[in-house]
Amino acid sequence: MSKNVGLFWLKDDFRFKRNLALIEATKNHDQVVAFYLYKKQKFESQEAQKWWVLKSLEEFKKKLEKQNINLEIIEVNTYRSFFDKLFHKENFSIYWNKVYEPNYLKFDNYLSKNFKNKRIQFKIFKGNILNEFNEVLKGDGTPFKVFTPFWRNAEKVYLDKIPLQEKKISKCKNRTSFFKNTIKLDQLLSTKDIYKKFEKNWQPSEEIATKKLKSFIQDKINEYSEGRNFPNNFGTSKLSPYIKHGQIHVETVWEECIKIKKKGVNKFLAEIGWREFNHSLINFFPHMLSGNYSKKFDNFPWEKNKKFLTAWKKGLTGYPIVDAGMRELNSTGWMHNRVRMITGSFLVKHLLIDWKEGEKYFKNCLLDYNEANNISGWQWVAGCGADAAPYFRIFNPILQGEKFDKEGDYVKKWVPELKNLPKKFIHRPWEVKDKKILNLGKDYPEPIVIHEHARSKALAAFKNL
Ligand SMILES: Cc1cc2nc3c(=O)[nH]c(=O)nc-3n(C[C@H](O)[C@H](O)[C@H](O)COP(=O)(O)OP(=O)(O)OC[C@H]3O[C@@H](n4cnc5c(N)ncnc54)[C@H](O)[C@@H]3O)c2cc1C
Repeated sequence: MSKNVGLFWLKDDFRFKRNLALIEATKNHDQVVAFYLYKKQKFESQEAQKWWVLKSLEEFKKKLEKQNINLEIIEVNTYRSFFDKLFHKENFSIYWNKVYEPNYLKFDNYLSKNFKNKRIQFKIFKGNILNEFNEVLKGDGTPFKVFTPFWRNAEKVYLDKIPLQEKKISKCKNRTSFFKNTIKLDQLLSTKDIYKKFEKNWQPSEEIATKKLKSFIQDKINEYSEGRNFPNNFGTSKLSPYIKHGQIHVETVWEECIKIKKKGVNKFLAEIGWREFNHSLINFFPHMLSGNYSKKFDNFPWEKNKKFLTAWKKGLTGYPIVDAGMRELNSTGWMHNRVRMITGSFLVKHLLIDWKEGEKYFKNCLLDYNEANNISGWQWVAGCGADAAPYFRIFNPILQGEKFDKEGDYVKKWVPELKNLPKKFIHRPWEVKDKKILNLGKDYPEPIVIHEHARSKALAAFKNL
């Protein structure tokens, strides 16, 4: 056992199971301190994330204390300013898991160089991913740009590695503190109305994540291939915020899935595969974090229309399935994948608004916001990403609604003004002629654009690329 204190830098890893850095710290040290660096500025544009992180800190702190580990929260402006001071401290070793975003990985290099120079013991571990992105490459050593061959290869690479040995957290001898100027969680938690809504819908914890996975596998995975398309069907796992914040490791998801022989497992794991693919993309092609993956989109004539953008954000476009999706997002911090595609396509193709506006809004509202998935999801929708939807694929919000929300239950849930509409009008309320049933323009907005016109305009603009 080392006499030094073992420091564990907590980022998106609110779990004990498969938390390699924390496990190693408790194996090597009698005294371990976990610390979280709270960047106030970051959460100003990620309000939903702020709630999830603070709730997770609250819950994880109690869990760590049972293992005699203190969790210390330190407010910082930049990670660099914090670590530049830490390099001058002594009597500690430090451990952390990787976050697969180019900025984090670049910073890991900076830290490694400095810890080495100062002869401070440190160790960096694999984070929440199946394969390190540079393990999955084409035969010629270049990265994949198309999902299907990527995933075929990635599955093989992963299967070659398992079974991995499962290690466990050890209880520390006694609790200790390490940092001065730590802050208390109740200084950070606020009581916004939206947070009250989150409280009703979500419980950020490792235990809940595990339970959710198990009940999804037991009750839903069989029907997943079809069920995942229907937004009112609860056919998906809703694990995304837990995976994002590391309350569950994707290796655990994989392990639990392959234990059973049920239909839908392969399709479900392929979605985890899209997450792997997106992480590979942003690391091999980091230019896509601030612009288009496909450069030919750089001169696309996006339109600036504040009125349209606001109507989209508020769920007041006059297209029920789009409005239902945006209101689901605004109320719960989550939106069903099919509806993310429909609302995204509507913003980019019907309104011709830059996908970056949508990306920014989702980033602020999503509890599962994840750089790789959000950037790639938006570029997929816009057609400028790798292996993206072609420009001529313009989701028709009326037909999408009629196909995937046949009975209109999803719309009625989130757009209550339409709850008395007969089924045949639910996705085309402008066809209601009886004002007693619906006074269009008063009870519910008229469509902000006409689908056919918007479609032709978008096709013409995209064709010119
Ligand atoms: C415009 C747009 C933006 C998106 N932004 C995000 C985001 O910020 N964070 C995020 O996690 N996902 C994002 N997605 C992907 C997807 O919509 C969500 O992961 C999914 O809806 C989460 O619900 P679930 O956990 O029930 O998924 P399930 O269907 O149960 O899938 C299980 C897990 O697989 C992963 N996954 C599922 N679908 C996808 C996908 N299409 N791409 C990548 N990974 C996937 C997620 O980790 C998910 O939790 C976005 C998609 C689009 C079209």
